[in-house]
Amino acid sequence: MNNLDLATLLFGADVKPIQFWFDKYPARNLPPTAEITRLCPSPTGFLHIGALYMGVINRRIANDSKGVFYLRIEDTDTDREVQGARALIVSGMEEFGIKFDEGFIDGEKQFGAYAPYLQTQRRDIYASFARELVLRGRAYPCFMTREELDIQRSQQEAEKVRPGYYGKYATWRDAPIEKIQEKLKNNTPYVLRFKSMGDQNVKRSFKDEFLGDIQVPQNDEDFVLLKTNGIPTYHLAHIIDDYLMRTTFVIRGREWLSSVGKHLELWESFDFPIPKYGHLSPINKKDGTTVRKLSKRKDPEADIMRYVELGYPTDALIGYIYRLANPSFDVWWQSKRQASVWDFPFQLDELQKSGPGPVIDLKKLDDISSDIIAMMTAEEVADRMIKWATRYDAPFANLISSERPYLEKVLAIERDLENPRKDIANWSVGRDSIGYFFDSLFNPDKVKQVLADEKLQAIFNSISKDLADLMAADVLYTTDSIDAWLPEIKAVADQLGFTTDKVKLKANPEAFKGDFASFMKILRLVMTGTNRTPNLFHVLKVMGKERVLQRINSVANLG
Ligand code: GLU
Repeated sequence: MNNLDLATLLFGADVKPIQFWFDKYPARNLPPTAEITRLCPSPTGFLHIGALYMGVINRRIANDSKGVFYLRIEDTDTDREVQGARALIVSGMEEFGIKFDEGFIDGEKQFGAYAPYLQTQRRDIYASFARELVLRGRAYPCFMTREELDIQRSQQEAEKVRPGYYGKYATWRDAPIEKIQEKLKNNTPYVLRFKSMGDQNVKRSFKDEFLGDIQVPQNDEDFVLLKTNGIPTYHLAHIIDDYLMRTTFVIRGREWLSSVGKHLELWESFDFPIPKYGHLSPINKKDGTTVRKLSKRKDPEADIMRYVELGYPTDALIGYIYRLANPSFDVWWQSKRQASVWDFPFQLDELQKSGPGPVIDLKKLDDISSDIIAMMTAEEVADRMIKWATRYDAPFANLISSERPYLEKVLAIERDLENPRKDIANWSVGRDSIGYFFDSLFNPDKVKQVLADEKLQAIFNSISKDLADLMAADVLYTTDSIDAWLPEIKAVADQLGFTTDKVKLKANPEAFKGDFASFMKILRLVMTGTNRTPNLFHVLKVMGKERVLQRINSVANLG
């Protein structure tokens, strides 16, 4: 029996010859410098920050070379597939402004000349190419059961030899055709294996775009091409898809580096040109004193939707991703804060090439994010905060949108300055950072508690009535500048028995209630319940006289 007979036995007579697919998917009509890049996530759960990292890098390489960036969903591992994960990938990438030139939209619809971009819809294609390998004498069926393979592996371990299906352990490699026929007649499940010609003891050189020239052992494993259900393994699907979709640059995780030997042999067995490869280190996390790979299971910061839920503007995360990719982002950002993060002059050369890879630092994300939010107008911040809260904190959304003009005034505080306020790093801190401006979130009992904790309650009680009277002066709310306001508020403090004269206070502490700073501290706590606020001049002005008096009265129980 020849290869054609075996191929027909395995695949029947109806499988299309590979030429059919070459005709259907002709080469792209692009200049040779154009890079075709791709993102190929498996729909096995949430969208990992590593996918966004890969997405940004690949998008930029395609943009900068006037190439194409496409999305392919690698769903061949049906056991690990999670319901809804595909839609999550598409909507997540969309949310962060990562656009694909081909692939999916709306989680379902596909577009592009090389469709389908979902691997389980490409079974006919894989069958053709798998059959082609049988025709070329480079693939054969293997009927070993899981149990038999396990036994073989245990034997290899006992013999202290490398585990795997190779050499003399490749049981079905040279099986007589009668045995194959018999198994097929009984409908015994089988996998299709690659027939390797390599020698593990021989090294071959391989150029990795990130790691440089390296030596990898030749592959000698007869690894699986098609599983028992006819679905391809990653190895076969990778070669077929990246060839037919004309990928020029395969960027993938470092964990695939050990499979390069297999892939090189597979490319060559088809006589396909080998694309460029770049194996990228994963994103890490500092855990105590050690640095380890960010874990999909253990680390909530691995899930990019968490950042959306916390209300980080998506550009902040993109900026942060650029920073992970290129540390020079920091210097650029210092001088270019007005720019869009997408304008960052990304450099492929600056990627952390070897070593463990970049380490995530959420403090840095907060810095970038508060810079971005500080650049927005009060109106834009109000829009975005309401939009976020509508999705994640409906009561807060109702509150701030019902008092929109007041909200904008609050957000305008210290915004129009050379060094604007940077107290908002994401929308979820809105409640804490500006909530006290809103009466329904202002809790006099909590303020009393804070005053008690700070041991200021007695002083406040002793001045509250006069404070309310003195704070009724319109001038405290109508002056236009801090400079003009300061003498006015100092006069109030003075009349209540607080002094700005440190020498006098030291000489005769009994004669005063305290210094000016303690007065301001009391006033600030009574107005806001916190020590961290913008300048009180702005706070009082935006709150207005009526609200200020009401707060003094409610904390003092003055009725
Ligand atoms: N589906 C593979 C993964 O998620 C993609 C690897 C590749 O980009 O080729 O690791």
